[in-house]
Amino acid sequence: MDSKEKEPIDLDRRTFMKISAATAVGFASIGLVASIGTVSAAVENGEIMLNELDKPRTFAGRPQGVPPGMPEQLFDDTALIPTKVFDNLYCVGSRSVVAWVLTTSEGIIIIDSMWDNRDGKLIIDGIKQLGLKPADIKKIILTHGHGDHYGGAQYIKDKTNAEILLGKTDIGFMKAVSVGANGPRSPKPSVVSPMSNGDKITLGDTSVTVIDTPGHTPGCMSLIFPVKQNGKSYTAAQWGGTGAPMELKDKLTYRKSIDYFEKQTQAAQATVKINAHLFVDGGYAKLDAARTLKPGIANPWVIGEEGFAADYDGLRKMIDGAIEKQQG
Ligand SMILES: [Zn+2]
Repeated sequence: MDSKEKEPIDLDRRTFMKISAATAVGFASIGLVASIGTVSAAVENGEIMLNELDKPRTFAGRPQGVPPGMPEQLFDDTALIPTKVFDNLYCVGSRSVVAWVLTTSEGIIIIDSMWDNRDGKLIIDGIKQLGLKPADIKKIILTHGHGDHYGGAQYIKDKTNAEILLGKTDIGFMKAVSVGANGPRSPKPSVVSPMSNGDKITLGDTSVTVIDTPGHTPGCMSLIFPVKQNGKSYTAAQWGGTGAPMELKDKLTYRKSIDYFEKQTQAAQATVKINAHLFVDGGYAKLDAARTLKPGIANPWVIGEEGFAADYDGLRKMIDGAIEKQQG
């Protein structure tokens, strides 16, 4: 068993425990005001025990007040099997949200950090299960300033001293907003490096290009980076913000960002599509397929340039419909 379970409670964990014992979390930004319910904390000799971090991971139940359009899977903490998807890209996470683990010649870049400390531990444990070393984590790139993406970052940083990076506009957004998806479930990282449009976040032989795609949040970033498998190189792209924002002006910005990112991924000839919320595009099945990939069978994460074109058309259709509904 993991010897960390016997370590003393540190301040971050204690704070997390106190907060999560009786708080509600909602998602104002994606139209949801929800109570996730209470998390019971074991108390012994006046101390809250650490086993909350290892609590069984299951579907938390659909909280009251959730709008009908909100997917059930967003509330499902059931862990996914840590999976190698490309030679240098791994997926660790839950049915709700995942972190992508990108290996380089000089260590590991993590993309997003899930909801909370417990998820941060899930990511570190998953990296170990994959035969990688958590101590090699050097950078944590956060696609945007919502709690389901930044909440595990401080926990991972405390264990590894990795640098946390977030779009410069979303650093202010994350600090300013503490409701909805940014509720108390998700601790805010204390020291964050700002990213700007076109920055290349480089570690060893690998660079992740970050592209400004505001709308979902004001400083949402989408990513382009190289992956490889069986000696073949591909360009992967990750659209940073899943889901339409509530405000009309933000929807219009989101619409522009789709067009802008499409140009960037076309120029980069991206053919591999990565997503933080696997339930959006059949990711659970793709993950299963990736674990049992036979030689000669195409990797399901490779959707091709035509796949991307269809995907952007779908995104535009979704946002246009939402805009029309709001304007009408
Ligand atoms: Zn979000």
